[in-house]
Amino acid sequence: MHTRIITFLFVVAVTANAQAAPVDLVTNGTSDYVIFHDSNAPKSVSEAAVELQAYLLRSSGAKLDVVHQPADKMICLGDCEAARAADVEAQNLPWEGFRILTNGTNVYIIGRDTADGEKTPGGGTSRGTYNGVCRFLEEYVGVRWLIPGEHGDYIPKSSDVTIPDTDFQDAPAMLNRRVPYTQERRSEVKQWWRRQRLGWSLYLNHSHNWQHTIPASQFDKHPDWFAERAGVRVPPTGRYKLCTTNAELVKAYADAAIAYFDRNPNTTCYSLSPSDSAGYCECDQCSALYEKDPNGRRSVTPAILTFYNAVAKIVAKKYPDKVLAGYVYAAYLYPPKENLKLERNVFVVLTPSIDYGFTLARPAIRKQWESLLQDWTNATENISYYDLPVNITTEAGALNPPGLEILKFIYPKLAAAKIKGVYVYGVPAWGRAAPLNYLLAKLAWNPNADVEAMFDEYCAKAYGACGDDINQMYRMLDKEVARHYREFPNASYPLTTDMLRDIYAKNFPEIEQRYRAAHAKVKDADAKFRLEMIADNLKVLHWNLRQHNLLDEPKASAFYLSDGDFFEFLSANKGSLALHPSDGTKVPAYVRTKRNVTVPAKPKQAEKVRSFRLRGDQHLIVKPTGTSAAEVRFRRISARGKLITYRVFESDGAEVSGGVASEGSPLILDNADSGSEYYHVVIAGGTASFTIDVKEAAWAADGNLSDQGLHLLGQSSPLYFYVPEGTPAFHLSLEASPPGETAAATLTDPRGQRVAEFDCAQLSVDRQNIKLTSGQSGWWKLDVHKAKTGAIDDVWIKLESPLSGYFSLDPDRAATVQ
Ligand SMILES: [Zn+2]
Repeated sequence: MHTRIITFLFVVAVTANAQAAPVDLVTNGTSDYVIFHDSNAPKSVSEAAVELQAYLLRSSGAKLDVVHQPADKMICLGDCEAARAADVEAQNLPWEGFRILTNGTNVYIIGRDTADGEKTPGGGTSRGTYNGVCRFLEEYVGVRWLIPGEHGDYIPKSSDVTIPDTDFQDAPAMLNRRVPYTQERRSEVKQWWRRQRLGWSLYLNHSHNWQHTIPASQFDKHPDWFAERAGVRVPPTGRYKLCTTNAELVKAYADAAIAYFDRNPNTTCYSLSPSDSAGYCECDQCSALYEKDPNGRRSVTPAILTFYNAVAKIVAKKYPDKVLAGYVYAAYLYPPKENLKLERNVFVVLTPSIDYGFTLARPAIRKQWESLLQDWTNATENISYYDLPVNITTEAGALNPPGLEILKFIYPKLAAAKIKGVYVYGVPAWGRAAPLNYLLAKLAWNPNADVEAMFDEYCAKAYGACGDDINQMYRMLDKEVARHYREFPNASYPLTTDMLRDIYAKNFPEIEQRYRAAHAKVKDADAKFRLEMIADNLKVLHWNLRQHNLLDEPKASAFYLSDGDFFEFLSANKGSLALHPSDGTKVPAYVRTKRNVTVPAKPKQAEKVRSFRLRGDQHLIVKPTGTSAAEVRFRRISARGKLITYRVFESDGAEVSGGVASEGSPLILDNADSGSEYYHVVIAGGTASFTIDVKEAAWAADGNLSDQGLHLLGQSSPLYFYVPEGTPAFHLSLEASPPGETAAATLTDPRGQRVAEFDCAQLSVDRQNIKLTSGQSGWWKLDVHKAKTGAIDDVWIKLESPLSGYFSLDPDRAATVQ
């Protein structure tokens, strides 16, 4: 950005020019003041007037009219003639900033505002007056927006509102402030973001963008644009990588960015960020740029920065003022040893992935973090920050403490380094981490704010009479989580069984005791509501601890729920603010497509089913074959802190049930009444793995959910798939992540003859075209096994059209899907 950005870290006091009396806005519940703004003011200013009116009314009982003519006694909002007459100019304020002053009998809240539809030079918007009104309500009325929604506001009641003689201005330290993963699609969360002054006058788009920009369909024409492994250009699947030293590829990427700006003239930023995960190109030109990072691992940073610069240079010819944003992250986190020079239109998004979870509890990580921040901020002024440094990712109800020590460590350093944006993850289940979400929002505006004082105030105001109990409970968890991360070197951000045992089961009695003490004290209805949001999560946590046999006397707890009650509780709270986002309310398109599901004679080469594990999201088709109801049971669940949820649809696409996968409670599919020909079982598995046991039905797993195919974990029982008569040929691929994670497979035809061998010891994807001769229709078998080198872990198998892409794992219950 060449826009000059002025940041104000502190409230800047401006001396008032004359001694003035305080303004008595409301006296004894009545007011002779009005709220004035120009009738043609931006929408954000009229929204500010509505907020101001509503909260003054709720606090004091006085309703101030909103008017469009200046008055003798007024709160004047926004840049206007009346404000300029009082010498208040919005033009001199920083973007998103505001000034609040009393002058004579009037109060002025004047901010830097963009007009409706107008953008700042940084491609964002500026709601300075609105920000000023929210600050005014906090400062002089005592309002706090503790959580989103109707139970979220803290409004002290007072029949008098007096504004002392004042003149101050404030603006955000960072021009792009986001706390993502707080269910911000909900309207009440959007509103909460605005009141916390989250937003941006500097637009940044830094998402993983390689697949979107250079689609896999380009491979046939331009294999050289894609990553090379072991001398072969790898067919792009999943999070594929590009060959960034290929000049044509660089040009194609830049052209895509330019075309995007052509189509979206108001947009100012395009993302350069690579796809997530590993698999970088190993061609000679790319490899020549790689080096070792300080931990001895391969660093691809020089190649990535060379690519960022090369694209940016081309784009700058047509769009010199637009920026190209890219992460520095993972395999390209550490700065290059030499020549760290960035084009002026490159914007770096520092994502110190070494510190995810609470790993900044470890002194060695803190040291690396500090040098990363220093090196990158020395290299460029165009820098923002992306992180999840205080997050334990889970749906298991584990309370997420606020990470006070980590927040105190990070934010003042970001301020001192003049970082221009923060994208720091919150927690979607507000009942797990409301104080954390609040602190993150406040720190985004003022990174030097007093974390301890804000946390204490939050607990006191959010939980009323029991504020101390909740404060102590979170502080105890904060210490325990930090201890755990120091003692368990592999702990990262997903919840592990070790965490469940070592933090949550161990301290469950104390958590429960503190919660009960709190519950006994609290009277205020809103405080009670917030407390019960915590209880909702403790019920979920208790159930998960029980699934892992980590509780001595589970039934003695007030949070105990039987499986049936628990499933009912979850479905009643589906999509709540407290518990979890409403994933899975949309009906997937594939359940609406009518299938022909048959159960042909058992494969001739069938083996007794060996163990297998499916991983992540899955879609199964289950066709009842018995006289009694079909049963689908989850076993060997390795949930990694995720609640594995499932939904069941009938063959006509109607949703019939749903719930949480539990070893003790199988799904029963009874088509006696509905006559449904088959069922779809749609499983949201995240990163979990599990085994499926089916009784009284035939079934098949859908390999079309991702472009990588069916996802298995570890050694597997053979897979069977049906090849109809007349099929001339088909493509089959096996995928793994060599050299560490490998796999091999043997393909046999229906007569039991070996047709092909697949091997991913070198190649990440082994894709073969299998041509058929007569007598080869029927059940084929793919036996996936260990390769000569490496270990078998994540494996994907994909069948392409004309085959349907479904696999059976149990030959006695094999189904075909067309
Ligand atoms: Zn390359």
